[in-house]
Amino acid sequence: LWITFEGGDGSGKTTQAALLQEWFEKQGRVVVRTREPGGTEVGVLIRDIVLHHRGDIAPRAEALLYAADRAHHVETLVRPALARGEVVIQDRYLDSSVAYQGAGRVLDAGEIRDLSLWATGGALPDLTVLLDLDPAHARERLDADDKPFDRLEAEKSEFHHRVRDAYLALAAAEPERFLVLDASQPIDVISAEVRERLAGAL
Ligand code: C5P
Ligand code: MG
Repeated sequence: LWITFEGGDGSGKTTQAALLQEWFEKQGRVVVRTREPGGTEVGVLIRDIVLHHRGDIAPRAEALLYAADRAHHVETLVRPALARGEVVIQDRYLDSSVAYQGAGRVLDAGEIRDLSLWATGGALPDLTVLLDLDPAHARERLDADDKPFDRLEAEKSEFHHRVRDAYLALAAAEPERFLVLDASQPIDVISAEVRERLAGAL
């Protein structure tokens, strides 16, 4: 079982992934918690490049680096865990690339998706939880936690609105894979909604 969490910065992906891990472990399941970019040793190096050179990296190079991270991650970590029957819970996957690299407006969303599917041999999660949140609300949260809202200064809030819209369009195109949740709700309400969807699917 492979579950990915998607959403903008500050939407609560990490919090929800941790709660879901606990829930599965209480049922005796082995869980692999991971993320992109940076879910492997090689991935950590790629993460370092993409996050420290944003803005000064050619868009196609950036897209290829995310795809390289993903290819290595899926082949060396995700597929083996799934083959062992484990639950993989992941922060960000290909939808992040479509939403973020696509929101830069330089690259076409379809190309980015195709690149990612080529990189992973077409691997798609069983469930993708989209934590949908207004970027202004996300920013308030991150400010309160004293965390940076990535790219906001460089790209203004317009960028984050494009990311949000791109995510919602992806979810609308694949309603069977996506669960879209209002991320402004309390943490326990959201986690209950995720579990409810999984209980129905298991
Ligand atoms: O969620 P996480 O902290 O791993 O994301 C780090 C940053 O990388 C995000 O703020 C996002 O701006 C960026 N990112 C991106 N394209 C991706 C994945 C992440 O621009 N495909
Ligand atoms: Mg996070």
